[in-house]
Order: sequence, then C-alpha cells, then structure tokens
Amino acid sequence: MRCPSCNKFAAFNLDAEPEVEIEIDTEGHVSGSVRLVNACVDCDSELKEAYFEFDCDINAENHDDEEKGHELGVETTNIERTMRSGYYGKKKEWVDSRHGRTYYGAVVDYHATCLCGELDVDQSFSCEIGASDMEELK
Ligand SMILES: [Zn+2]
Ligand SMILES: [Zn+2]
Repeated sequence: MRCPSCNKFAAFNLDAEPEVEIEIDTEGHVSGSVRLVNACVDCDSELKEAYFEFDCDINAENHDDEEKGHELGVETTNIERTMRSGYYGKKKEWVDSRHGRTYYGAVVDYHATCLCGELDVDQSFSCEIGASDMEELK
C-alpha cells in the first residue's frame, strides 16, 4: 500500500512499541488491552491498527483485605512487537517462508505484586494477527 500522507510505498515502523493498558482488581483479576499500530516509517502516519483484549486471574487468595496491608498491583515488565512470515503446513505446523502470510503481534510480560510482599507473579500475554486482517486507518 501507498502511504496517503507522504505518498511513498509504505514500509512500517516495526520498532514502535504497542500501546498497552493493564489493571488488576482487588480479587486478582487482571485485564488489559494492546493496541498495535503499523505506522509509516517515513512520516509516522498511522496506517493500520489492531486491538486485543486479555484477561487472566492470578491466585490472590488472602490478599484482598486492604485493612490488613494488602493491595494488589500490576505493571508491565517487557513489551515486544513480533513479526513472522510463513504459513501453516499440512500438519498445522508452522513453516517460515517469505512467501507466506505476514503476522504482526505483541508479547506483553507483566508482574503482579501485593503490598504485603508475599505475592509475586509473572505472566505474559501474546497476540497475533494476519497483516491483511488489521484495520486500515484513514
Ligand atoms: Zn508516510
Ligand atoms: Zn498481600
């Protein structure tokens, strides 16, 4: 595709970090979202996007009473973009190939803790979408 802003044949800036939001409630329910943007490498216009949501329950039993010094928190520790090209073969195995489809995605590592210091959980979320399934931004 051509970038409508700078009119160059668009290459995507794959270094742009996905936008991630993440939160945790008092019962250990983590929810978050990832917005993946493919922006033009020349002029930075946002050309395509994909949006993912995730949730996960961590075992936070006995950490729900704030009056006893518990307070859950979560933060991301690493956010990475992923990209691969290829296809799924006859046995559904992944085959890398430049002639296959391109998939863009993200891996989000996050860390949940409790103020009491006795909860320490690392989790990660990954998502992926076929390049042609991303939504075009006008
Ligand atoms: Zn451009
Ligand atoms: Zn606690």
